[in-house]
Amino acid sequence: MSERFTAVEIITAKRDKYELSDQQIDWTVDAYTRGVIADEQMSALLMAILLNGMSSQEISRWTDAMIASGEKMSWSMLDRPTVDKHSTGGVGDKITLPLAPLVAACGAAVPQLSGRGLGHTGGTLDKLESIKGWKASLSNNEMLKVIQECGAVICAAGAGLAPADKKLYALRDVTGTVEAIPLIASSIMSKKIAEGTSALVLDVKTGSGAFMSDPKDAALLARTMVDLGKRAGVTTRALVTAMDVPLGLTAGNSLEIRETLEVLAGGGPSDVVELTLLFANEKIEIKADSSGKLLTLDALKVGISAWRLGAGRQKQGEVLQLGAGIEIHAKPGDIVKVGQNILTLHSDEPARFDRAKEALVGAFSIGGVDDPIKRLPLVIERIEG
Ligand code: URA
Repeated sequence: MSERFTAVEIITAKRDKYELSDQQIDWTVDAYTRGVIADEQMSALLMAILLNGMSSQEISRWTDAMIASGEKMSWSMLDRPTVDKHSTGGVGDKITLPLAPLVAACGAAVPQLSGRGLGHTGGTLDKLESIKGWKASLSNNEMLKVIQECGAVICAAGAGLAPADKKLYALRDVTGTVEAIPLIASSIMSKKIAEGTSALVLDVKTGSGAFMSDPKDAALLARTMVDLGKRAGVTTRALVTAMDVPLGLTAGNSLEIRETLEVLAGGGPSDVVELTLLFANEKIEIKADSSGKLLTLDALKVGISAWRLGAGRQKQGEVLQLGAGIEIHAKPGDIVKVGQNILTLHSDEPARFDRAKEALVGAFSIGGVDDPIKRLPLVIERIEG
């Protein structure tokens, strides 16, 4: 079969800092998966990407091409929302293990396709394999059965899921090309989007034990992945968290399983407990974008937002989410500082947050400290018989 491009022209284009076209990217990922591009050629291209970067259009097309290299899973048969979590990797990072059952106990379905250790970082599958009899590979039907019975499943991604990433991941590990933001972002997000989760939380590690030791790089990686998720219709949030010190009090496979059991039994080190709870809580905050006096807070917009979070019914007979709603931290007349939390949104279904946030556009205004507040008096009129 004649090929549309050659590996050498793609490598030289990236080496010379040109932006690759959609067609060039589609061909490159597909040709590498088919074995047309050799490992040594892909190594050169990966190094050129690491050194020269990729535009956001290149990153999203590269991610799409990796998704298209395999199957896309669907969980539409489940009666619950699906949520997943992914960490960029660190030392002693066992958060997935207590988190998945915790989130399942709150009523969400967790289809967790995990990986093995990369470089000095540990992998969830390696940790679980220290439990005798545990197996990492499940068929799609087995995954579904476990998720229906337990609410969460942790297993290896099947061979059919983003096969391009499997080849690239192994090659990056031995060619010094792991630490490239476009490659990490597309690797993680291609698997998560193909896995079919409707919501995702990302733990982007920074510090000496992380791939992104500089917090600025970690924040850029987090932003890149959140944008990729949003484009694909996956509600995605990220926290940049510390990996300058190992997480918890253990690093190593069976030791981390022991620590996980301690956390699930109500004990365990405080940093592991704190981070697990932080990721289990999908709660989001709406902050002040300037300092001054809160002048208005629109009751209708707050009500519609709470409704969209699950506090009200969209159709007759719908079961309400009794924990859904909005906490209000400032009222008209209060002096607020830029970045201060004004509203906290709660919902068990992270996919509801985007529409709830949309309802809050213009819900409050902040003016100068001497500006009059605009609100009705608490009692407007007294009617006596
Ligand atoms: N985890 C992944 O899945 N891919 C990377 O590139 C790094 C961490």
